[in-house]
Amino acid sequence: MKSRKLLATLTAISLFTAAAMFAVDDKKEAPVSKQAGCCAKAEKAGKVCDHECCVEAAKAGNNCEKCKGSGKIEKKAEKAK
Ligand SMILES: [Zn+2]
Ligand SMILES: [Zn+2]
Repeated sequence: MKSRKLLATLTAISLFTAAAMFAVDDKKEAPVSKQAGCCAKAEKAGKVCDHECCVEAAKAGNNCEKCKGSGKIEKKAEKAK
Protein backbone atom coordinates (compact mmCIF):
# COMPACT_ATOMS: atom_id res chain seq x y z
CA MET A 1 0.00 0.00 0.00
CA LYS A 2 2.84 2.32 0.85
CA SER A 3 4.49 1.95 -2.52
CA ARG A 4 1.18 2.62 -4.24
CA LYS A 5 0.84 5.87 -2.33
CA LEU A 6 4.39 6.77 -3.25
CA LEU A 7 3.68 6.09 -6.90
CA ALA A 8 0.62 8.31 -6.74
CA THR A 9 2.69 11.03 -5.15
CA LEU A 10 5.38 10.72 -7.80
CA THR A 11 2.77 10.86 -10.54
CA ALA A 12 1.25 13.94 -8.98
CA ILE A 13 4.68 15.55 -8.74
CA SER A 14 5.59 14.79 -12.34
CA LEU A 15 2.23 16.14 -13.51
CA PHE A 16 2.80 19.24 -11.44
CA THR A 17 6.29 19.63 -12.88
CA ALA A 18 4.96 19.30 -16.42
CA ALA A 19 2.31 21.89 -15.67
CA ALA A 20 4.94 24.17 -14.20
CA MET A 21 7.07 23.78 -17.32
CA PHE A 22 4.10 24.70 -19.49
CA ALA A 23 3.52 27.71 -17.28
CA VAL A 24 7.11 28.82 -17.84
CA ASP A 25 6.67 28.43 -21.59
CA ASP A 26 3.54 30.53 -21.42
CA LYS A 27 5.38 33.23 -19.56
CA LYS A 28 8.07 33.30 -22.20
CA GLU A 29 5.55 33.80 -24.95
CA ALA A 30 3.09 36.05 -23.13
CA PRO A 31 4.96 39.35 -22.96
CA VAL A 32 5.42 39.74 -26.67
CA SER A 33 5.91 43.40 -27.26
CA LYS A 34 4.00 44.37 -30.34
CA GLN A 35 3.49 47.96 -31.25
CA ALA A 36 0.12 48.95 -32.65
CA GLY A 37 0.22 49.70 -36.37
CA CYS A 38 -0.94 53.27 -35.96
CA CYS A 39 1.73 53.93 -33.34
CA ALA A 40 4.46 52.39 -35.51
CA LYS A 41 3.40 54.62 -38.39
CA ALA A 42 3.44 57.69 -36.20
CA GLU A 43 6.84 56.78 -34.83
CA LYS A 44 8.27 56.32 -38.31
CA ALA A 45 7.05 59.81 -39.11
CA GLY A 46 8.87 61.06 -36.05
CA LYS A 47 5.63 61.61 -34.18
CA VAL A 48 3.75 60.09 -31.30
CA CYS A 49 0.43 58.45 -32.03
CA ASP A 50 -2.33 60.80 -30.96
CA HIS A 51 -5.07 58.23 -30.54
CA GLU A 52 -6.56 58.69 -27.11
CA CYS A 53 -6.46 54.97 -26.45
CA CYS A 54 -2.80 54.77 -27.47
CA VAL A 55 -1.82 57.76 -25.34
CA GLU A 56 -3.52 56.20 -22.34
CA ALA A 57 -1.83 52.86 -22.94
CA ALA A 58 1.54 54.55 -23.39
CA LYS A 59 1.13 56.29 -20.05
CA ALA A 60 0.91 52.87 -18.45
CA GLY A 61 3.94 51.72 -20.46
CA ASN A 62 1.86 49.42 -22.64
CA ASN A 63 1.23 49.13 -26.33
CA CYS A 64 -2.36 49.91 -27.23
CA GLU A 65 -4.36 46.69 -27.26
CA LYS A 66 -7.34 48.37 -28.89
CA CYS A 67 -5.19 49.01 -31.95
CA LYS A 68 -3.84 45.45 -32.00
CA GLY A 69 -0.69 46.16 -30.06
CA SER A 70 0.30 44.04 -27.08
CA GLY A 71 2.69 43.81 -24.19
CA LYS A 72 4.94 46.48 -22.80
CA ILE A 73 6.43 49.23 -24.86
CA GLU A 74 10.04 48.37 -25.61
CA LYS A 75 12.41 50.97 -24.34
CA LYS A 76 14.55 52.31 -27.11
CA ALA A 77 16.68 54.63 -25.04
CA GLU A 78 19.72 52.37 -25.36
CA LYS A 79 19.56 52.36 -29.12
CA ALA A 80 19.75 56.14 -29.21
CA LYS A 81 23.14 56.19 -27.48
ZN1 LIG B 1 -1.70 54.26 -31.97
ZN1 LIG C 1 -4.97 52.81 -29.76
